[in-house]
Amino acid sequence: MRIRSMIGLWLGRATKFALKISGRSGTSLPGLVAGKVAPHLLQDLMAQLTEGVIVTGTNGKTTTTALLYAFLSEEESWLTNRGGANLHQGLLATMMSTSTLSGKLRIRKAVLEVDEATLPKITAFYHPSVILVTNVLRDQLDRYGEVDETLHLLKEGTEYPGTSLITNGDDPLAMSLGISRSELTYYYGFTQVPEVTSARADVRDGAFCLLCGEELIYDYFIYGQVGAYHCPNGHFQRPVPDFGGKYDGATKQLLVEESVSKDNQVYAIASPVKGIFNQYNLLAAISAARILGKSPATIRKGIVNYEAPTGRFQVFVGTPLRTLALVKNPTGANSVLRAMEEDAGEKVLCFAINDDDADGRDVSWLWDINIEEFLPRSFCETWICTGTRGLDMALRLAYAGVDRSKINVLDKLSQLVEETSGYVLPVYILSTYTALHPLSELLRKGVTNG
Ligand SMILES: [Zn+2]
Repeated sequence: MRIRSMIGLWLGRATKFALKISGRSGTSLPGLVAGKVAPHLLQDLMAQLTEGVIVTGTNGKTTTTALLYAFLSEEESWLTNRGGANLHQGLLATMMSTSTLSGKLRIRKAVLEVDEATLPKITAFYHPSVILVTNVLRDQLDRYGEVDETLHLLKEGTEYPGTSLITNGDDPLAMSLGISRSELTYYYGFTQVPEVTSARADVRDGAFCLLCGEELIYDYFIYGQVGAYHCPNGHFQRPVPDFGGKYDGATKQLLVEESVSKDNQVYAIASPVKGIFNQYNLLAAISAARILGKSPATIRKGIVNYEAPTGRFQVFVGTPLRTLALVKNPTGANSVLRAMEEDAGEKVLCFAINDDDADGRDVSWLWDINIEEFLPRSFCETWICTGTRGLDMALRLAYAGVDRSKINVLDKLSQLVEETSGYVLPVYILSTYTALHPLSELLRKGVTNG
């Protein structure tokens, strides 16, 4: 390890210690200090990994990482950046948390969630054994620009030999990352899903052939531009998945059919997650665990350890039963609404919409959420909107035809927790990034007190 990295590590440690004795632990300052002093510290620490997995993509990174971590850590110690600290500083804090004072890693295997824009910066100095790309969807427009830009970053971060790429074959954009790779590329995809329609009006920025620009022809859509597609000019099509999934909503079983090895295993896994987009996350995590040599039996044992990360369909048990779900783009929000349809009873639906930098300043994406389609099947008794852009959301709901007398706008997040505690109906809270952690904290306290 470089001397400078060592000094950075010590300063980071000293900062952490100083914060701890002054009762202010849990900030990102130690990682920030260490990174400023020692720009190569993360590289020097990651160089010691004997096995590394990186999970990236637009939606589902945190859930997929948590699922994969549950499978991998069943038999041995793995390191992970729990809770989505997926930029340089968060990765550094994770690696530092397990290093000795002399800079040696105590745990040498890591499954890390990495932001799409950070990926090429990491792979410039570290090549993991496996990179998993969940999907490439339209995020807030002011975050990275167009999907093209994200795709470019992902290509840069995955186009080199020696690393296995596992990606979503049902997503034409994610799938395109594998086209120019000659080896070690694996696709997962669903061969059967409970509900499939060709008429969903989701945002489909990616539904065009990347080679000729022609609109792709779909046999069916599952969500967003994800489905069974082919280019009319024969440039590319949905690949036969190496890990094919069949999800049975009634029994909540995911059947996996492999065509990747000689023995072509078929096995069922009890799904701990809700919604088709989460079954994709589960199938992705299973595929990666299998490529890393884990048996279906180990996956079954490991799944019991899975804990939903903050705000990823995180359930707060009590009366009412409250579920907190992160929404950050229209496709993600539509997927969450569809997952809620699995709960056929009456419910209370809340939106906590902020527009800080981390949420995206531009809230025009609210208008791309398919409220109109969801409305007839929603069975929503009350709609509650809050956050800095709560009024915009209320307007969006009214415009979609929600009865105005059923829309309640609240100024503060804390009011949302108080207001919903009066219900017995299940409460769903869809929240943008910066409202998520405060809400999770308030709900946790509310549950403990009640
Ligand atoms: Zn084409």
